[in-house]
Amino acid sequence: MLEPIVGLHHVTAIASDPQRNLDFYCEVLGLRFVKRTVNFDDPGSYHFYFGDDVGSPGSILTFFAWPHASRGRVGAGETSAVAFCVPTSSLPFWEQRVLAAGSAVEHAGERFGDPVLSLGDPDGMRIELVGSDNPSPLVAPRTSNVPAEHTIRGFDGVTLCEAGFEMTAQVIERMGFARAGQENNRIRFVSPARAPGNRIDIRVQPQLVYGHTGAGTVHHIAFRAPSDGAQIEWREVLSKVPLNVTPVLDRTYFQSIYFREPGGVLFEIATDRPGFAFDEPVEHLGEALKLPPWLEKRRADIEQVLLPIELPHVRKEQADA
Ligand code: ZN
Repeated sequence: MLEPIVGLHHVTAIASDPQRNLDFYCEVLGLRFVKRTVNFDDPGSYHFYFGDDVGSPGSILTFFAWPHASRGRVGAGETSAVAFCVPTSSLPFWEQRVLAAGSAVEHAGERFGDPVLSLGDPDGMRIELVGSDNPSPLVAPRTSNVPAEHTIRGFDGVTLCEAGFEMTAQVIERMGFARAGQENNRIRFVSPARAPGNRIDIRVQPQLVYGHTGAGTVHHIAFRAPSDGAQIEWREVLSKVPLNVTPVLDRTYFQSIYFREPGGVLFEIATDRPGFAFDEPVEHLGEALKLPPWLEKRRADIEQVLLPIELPHVRKEQADA
């Protein structure tokens, strides 16, 4: 039998100012900057990857940073919130830390029994910190000053905002997620794999208009293939649903297929391999601009167009020296 989809691999969103984005996710949320590259389809702009210490699948939030992007609007057919998992006992620490950084944070109550803190990133993207009594043991980033016991443990899951329900639910269930419960207009699906990011919530909001892409909105969500071979098999299965699935595309750090689910959200299924240590050692992840071979000959032009950035932990080391 075909192995089920594991959970989330990464989530990709849109930011405006690259330095502000970097400062928020590294300094405030304490994620590691695991890759500094460009948008392969638009090499004049950055593609940033944040995650745990090694960029484990299930921990990776990525951004296209477009300095002049205007703010988008979340609507039906979009991912309306990205949730990270933290130990329940760490929620007071996180509330204080986010407030001290000058961002607003609110108690969003309990969801399926778990307490939720909700905050906006500098572009207004909705980030949730969900308390868990049994969080997965991801590796704390070496670049972060968040005490290890409070560190973010990868994704909890995402919320999809949808005008309807049935057709999206059929696709998620076909991918191996099982319906796990309903609270008001929120319906939860859980993957049988005990891995970070194994929860997908559909929030049914038929009154909402469609959103538009821009800073602060999620571009797509990527699920994690159980193996390279299983990705090919899943491609066959999903094509027969039928869904309009792309061929396998080389994304340098993983291999991907993409399709739009019937409600409008762009889905991807990515492999674990080769991972972020493919083109630089784990100790130096994110320090240098990495380009795929076909863009290497344009490096000088690309570097001239990109805004200079500073890694927060390097800035601190220099200030302390
Ligand atoms: Zn992706």
